[in-house]
Amino acid sequence: MPKTMEEMIAHLKSQGFVFQGSEIYGGLANSWDYGPLGAEVKNKLKAQWWNYFVKKNALNVGLDSSIILNPKVWKASGHIDGFNDPLIDCKKCNSRWRADKIIEEFNQEINAGTMSNQEMEDFIKINNISCAKCGACDYTAIRQFALMFKTNQGVLEDESSTVYLRPETAQGIFINFKNAQRSLRKKLPFGIGQIGKSFRNEITPGNFIFRTREFEQMELEFFFNPSDETDWFNYWLTNVENFLNNVIEIKSENYRVRNHDKEELAHYSSQTSDIEFKFPFGWGELWGVAHRGDFDLNAHQTASGQDMTYLDPETNSKILPNVIEPSVGVERMMLAIFWQAFEEEKIDENNSRIVMRLPKNLVPYQVAVMPLQKQLSEQAKELFNNLLEDFDATYDETGNVGKRYRRQDAIGTPFVITYDFDSLEDKSVTIRDRDTMAQERIKLNEVKQYLFDKYN
Ligand code: ATP
Repeated sequence: MPKTMEEMIAHLKSQGFVFQGSEIYGGLANSWDYGPLGAEVKNKLKAQWWNYFVKKNALNVGLDSSIILNPKVWKASGHIDGFNDPLIDCKKCNSRWRADKIIEEFNQEINAGTMSNQEMEDFIKINNISCAKCGACDYTAIRQFALMFKTNQGVLEDESSTVYLRPETAQGIFINFKNAQRSLRKKLPFGIGQIGKSFRNEITPGNFIFRTREFEQMELEFFFNPSDETDWFNYWLTNVENFLNNVIEIKSENYRVRNHDKEELAHYSSQTSDIEFKFPFGWGELWGVAHRGDFDLNAHQTASGQDMTYLDPETNSKILPNVIEPSVGVERMMLAIFWQAFEEEKIDENNSRIVMRLPKNLVPYQVAVMPLQKQLSEQAKELFNNLLEDFDATYDETGNVGKRYRRQDAIGTPFVITYDFDSLEDKSVTIRDRDTMAQERIKLNEVKQYLFDKYN
């Protein structure tokens, strides 16, 4: 059945996945809190990424660097001078827009990132692109709007105490490249992965959790010798697709790979591919894979005066490694996962159910236990407590069985076990499958093994 993003947002709220931020005070624009079930999904998603890209890939190690860094980092990386978006105001209603985004919305074929400010202003005028709020077509000139959040460290509030909240986790990795390499005696090629909060004072946040000002990133910086002939870019692009397909089960028809052409590439990049997902509002960037050359290490070497090179033990020569960066937002990926999973399914003429077809490794609960009637709650609770030792389990005894099944469908619980009156005699229970709704009878002492088999 057709679905809308509004329906999904209402569902995620009512079921405890995502709440509006600061709701009791009327909210804070475009901020979202993750409820009890959303926090579970988020933690599991991050654990899956960490497992795949850090723990189980023998080439890589992890890191957890600070959010607030020495401002010299952001000067060297180019963020203080260049991390801006082109901002225009509607002269009539004063609403603010990103010039590049309104052009791209007007014509999806155009990549406004390659246009100069003058070209963008001209394009908007010639095509009469009107303000989405009031319909006027009278804008100010484009100004560059700095995206980094500024604050002050310590008691003084002057220039010398200005610091920034990081707009990406990547720079924390670059400045620790030598620390990680030396302390773990890593040899090229190797990668450093990190998960953490990033902040961008976006001009036009929105589309639910797609673009927010506070978000989390999962970034890998993979360092290799520029003379290494392995195609590391495609190695990581393949791994990214493998993660999407096989770990979090994103269907291939829901994403596509878009290679940046020459004009679109960032000045430091020789190759970039975006993985785009089919969001409810259209295709949008989910995951970026970029070849960053030696841009960052070189910039930090120049600015800090520290040697950022790697000493090749075989040739005894100093090398400034090149870098491949796969970078993805946690919440953006959750939006993709939620949207793919959310489904209203028609069961028969008069009945339908909402089911969250979340992949098994991301569900808040792996199994729910319920007694058919309250008289059986003691036995059902015993089973629940036993399962809780090995599984993420929940217990539900309120309402009729049909309603309880629907509740578990709505939050994506793959298996529901019902303890009924026959269970007292035959020492068996009924297990119901979320996706097929099929039920099977299974011995109590085989329940754990049944679930282990399903989850391994
Ligand atoms: P966009 O063009 O959408 O602003 P970007 O190209 O600036 O994104 P990157 O700097 O490459 O994004 O960041 C890497 C990843 O971090 C993105 O692919 C996205 O998943 C995530 N991300 C970036 N900005 C935001 C944001 N404001 N809210 C949520 N996720 C974000």
